[in-house]
Amino acid sequence: MAPGRNDQISSIGGRAAIRRRRASQAWATLRSGELQIIQATALAKLPWLVHGFSTRTGGKSRLEGLPDGQGVLNLGFTGWDTREDVLANRAKLLSALPAERMKLVTLRQIHSDVVHVLDAFLDGVQRGLPPAHLAAPGGLPPDPPSALSGDAVITRASGWLLGVQTADCVPILMADTKQHAVAAVHAGWRGTLRRIAAKTLGRMQMAFGTRPEDVVTVLGPAIGRCCYEVGPEVAQAYAGQFAQAREWFDGPFDQLATGEEPNPLKWLSMAPPGHDPPPPRVRLDLRAANRWQLLDAGVKASNIISSELCTSCRTDLLFSYRREHARTGRLMAIIGLREK
Ligand SMILES: [Zn+2]
Repeated sequence: MAPGRNDQISSIGGRAAIRRRRASQAWATLRSGELQIIQATALAKLPWLVHGFSTRTGGKSRLEGLPDGQGVLNLGFTGWDTREDVLANRAKLLSALPAERMKLVTLRQIHSDVVHVLDAFLDGVQRGLPPAHLAAPGGLPPDPPSALSGDAVITRASGWLLGVQTADCVPILMADTKQHAVAAVHAGWRGTLRRIAAKTLGRMQMAFGTRPEDVVTVLGPAIGRCCYEVGPEVAQAYAGQFAQAREWFDGPFDQLATGEEPNPLKWLSMAPPGHDPPPPRVRLDLRAANRWQLLDAGVKASNIISSELCTSCRTDLLFSYRREHARTGRLMAIIGLREK
């Protein structure tokens, strides 16, 4: 054996162990009864901030197929659930954080690049405008039809919890550690294509003077590169928008992105007419695409914390629309500034 080989092996092992330890230190689970809330330690250590990524366990909602008593924490107004149970689940989440006294603001999410500045609406309330779109005190959300339409919300006002709902899409929480401002972002493939994460940072810069280098960003549980199959229309759209897109896809990306015929001799294939094999698909890493956007916008690599939890692989812990279809709930990622 060459001299030093053992050293090399043990040092590689050591580095891997350190990486594993760092990864485990990046996240913590807050438990309250049956509830498990995932928190990023980089945000949890800030005393002026409340945040968390919900999981499915410990709620009141009864999802078909599960034994009675195994309630799930559905936080969105889905067709199969009752409004009472969703409200009870939201109240449970808030009390676990704890943040019962804070007011929850949710959005009617439309896969857009629309970013709302909550402070402007609060100014409106102070001027006596009707707060139809705002949550009532005590954490009760507005009726979905009266909620703001959009996919990101930012604020510098304390006492408000910003929430985005997901069941595969990427929830992104941001905190400006200097100006004490926060953001919650919902980024599916359409929102990511429209650069919702970068645009949210841009709005924070304009509204609050946020500097990207002061911002900690956390990408929560979402469908992973392992499971998120998409078709040629997504590959083509990404190829048209991002020079780096190839890095975020597995599978025949170039073939799908250019729309080239996969097999020029297809007419020779044995499949009978009308029974062509389905077109090839690729798998997209939505978190990698958002991570690149944040880096490109000036966020430090060390300030981008990205969960590796896949909603589709982990339906024991999370909700996945892809995997469970309509019979699934909504996770919620929330962030807010504590009242001074
Ligand atoms: Zn997966």
